[in-house]
Amino acid sequence: MKCCQSVLVGLLVCVSTAMAEPRAANVILFIGDGMGPEQVRAASYYATGRADGLVMHNLPHHGLMTTHSANNSTTDSAASATAFATGVKVNNHVISVQRPGDGHDLPTILEHFNKRGALTGLVTTDSLLGATPAGFSAHQEHRKLAPAIADDILRKTQPNVIFGGGGPGLDAESAASAGYTVATTREQLINLFKTDDQTPHLAGIFGGGRFDYYHRKPQQYVSNYPRLYEMTAQALAVLSRSEKGFFLMVESALIDKSGHSQRLDDDAVRTRCNITETLELDKAVHVAVDFARVHPDTLIIVTADHECGDLHIVQTGDAGQWPTVRWGRKDHTGIPVPIFATGPGAERCSPKTDNAEVFNIMAESAGLDIAEPAAAN
Ligand SMILES: [Zn+2]
Repeated sequence: MKCCQSVLVGLLVCVSTAMAEPRAANVILFIGDGMGPEQVRAASYYATGRADGLVMHNLPHHGLMTTHSANNSTTDSAASATAFATGVKVNNHVISVQRPGDGHDLPTILEHFNKRGALTGLVTTDSLLGATPAGFSAHQEHRKLAPAIADDILRKTQPNVIFGGGGPGLDAESAASAGYTVATTREQLINLFKTDDQTPHLAGIFGGGRFDYYHRKPQQYVSNYPRLYEMTAQALAVLSRSEKGFFLMVESALIDKSGHSQRLDDDAVRTRCNITETLELDKAVHVAVDFARVHPDTLIIVTADHECGDLHIVQTGDAGQWPTVRWGRKDHTGIPVPIFATGPGAERCSPKTDNAEVFNIMAESAGLDIAEPAAAN
């Protein structure tokens, strides 16, 4: 009997081990920088006249996520990106090194995917040297060390796709000299990336920093900058050629900038920019959801690094009407942010989660061997 029991236990272990096999070949992480629950609700009311009418609302698993850093109840984008990318809480301003601690490099989810031979990509409306993309692709003591971050991206982690703004040490020339095929306009992005290279290195460097608000400069997005959803579609077209899956991070960065009121004096314009940048993220999510219908082995997570602006909706109207809102401040807050998910492992995005847990959800859903440190160069 005991023997039978042990065989049975053995079988159960086998079955549960088999069930724990990799299930998500592809992981797409969307980060709305500065996108708290009210930012999402305001965008939804404007777009649909309802509180929960966005594409992200249709993802089957959602909840709220805490975002505190190692040394502050209110995180910055660097510490939050590091938590997503490595599963470790660090101090504000730190880019994927152990601080507090001995400062050693913390291997990122992007590096783990690199190590398994999968393809990787970063897409943002910020400079690619900004704290959010840097958290996945660089190891530095401070987010302001832009040239060192550029060197990490171009010479060390080398994501297969980098689409966003340039910055000190990252322009068309430096990307080309590091082996990237480069586009600098929207048209080039669409035409140039018809490569059939199986392990491509493609850079879309659009301007020397963050993009302009879509609401204020829509014509720029026709003549020069690609929209976030266009960059996402191009990235997916390239990364999906991988036989070993891919990791893609997509950031809508200007939700945060409007929350800080950067380059915006008028609160009504600030609100409209905030809402349209959230809707730009939602359009990109739509592209990914369509992709996942054809590739069901894709985990999609949509969340934020922190809230920004202490936004409160005062009055809503029908679709197409800007809601009346009150902004409480021009900086980040520590309030929990929304998280939405679909695909293998998405059920682990519980009603209450934490930003460092997102790393574990992505890594375990993808079956990554995270006991073995990824090459952090
Ligand atoms: Zn910010």
